[in-house]
Amino acid sequence: MRLVIFDIDGTLTPTMNADEGCLVRSCKDVFGFVDIDTDWSHYPHTTDSGIFDDVFTSRIGRPPTEQEILQFRQHFVGLLARVSSEAAFGAVAGAPLLLSRLADSAEHRVALATGAWRDSARLKMASAGLCYDDYPAASSDDAFDRESIIRLSMRRAGERYGECSSTVYVGDGVWDARACRNVGIPFIGVATDGRASRLSEEGAVCVFPDLSDVDLFLSNLYEITNAS
Ligand SMILES: [Mg+2]
Repeated sequence: MRLVIFDIDGTLTPTMNADEGCLVRSCKDVFGFVDIDTDWSHYPHTTDSGIFDDVFTSRIGRPPTEQEILQFRQHFVGLLARVSSEAAFGAVAGAPLLLSRLADSAEHRVALATGAWRDSARLKMASAGLCYDDYPAASSDDAFDRESIIRLSMRRAGERYGECSSTVYVGDGVWDARACRNVGIPFIGVATDGRASRLSEEGAVCVFPDLSDVDLFLSNLYEITNAS
């Protein structure tokens, strides 16, 4: 059995812009923080909890309390819910078909490892017609850093599916590529133009513009998981 772990934002759902807008706005609405650096690759941990912790700590001089995290998170997810109710986020092209082909495959199993908080990830997937709770998953609720999130997703997938002979991760960020390198698993990128070449430079074994060429994706996946 071979495990395919997916990132969510920018990989399964085209939600990077909505996410960014709601996060920046929540910083201002809840704590009055403005001028947020939105190059997420600058943060020590590019996850919802990691970014919020870094922004809060650098401005206030101490980490946020549980209550402050909860307050921020509820506001943020409320904003996302409002945005998605105005226009559904939809899915990245090909994502629903690819997930259903993998679910039908005898050889592959799917898990999720997202830097989003779980309720945010659940909402975004539902808005794309996908179900977060169909899969073993780990999220920003579990850890600040993506390496831990990926490792936990692998462990939960093992508990659900049994031992997997190989694992590959599919994501859209340089932080995904770096985390995969640290965890020691191959990384497939989803990106276009300059971002695609950046993912290749960071070690992506291949990069797709989206997930619409399901057959090509699956044949690459077989090659990668056979080699690893
Ligand atoms: Mg992403």
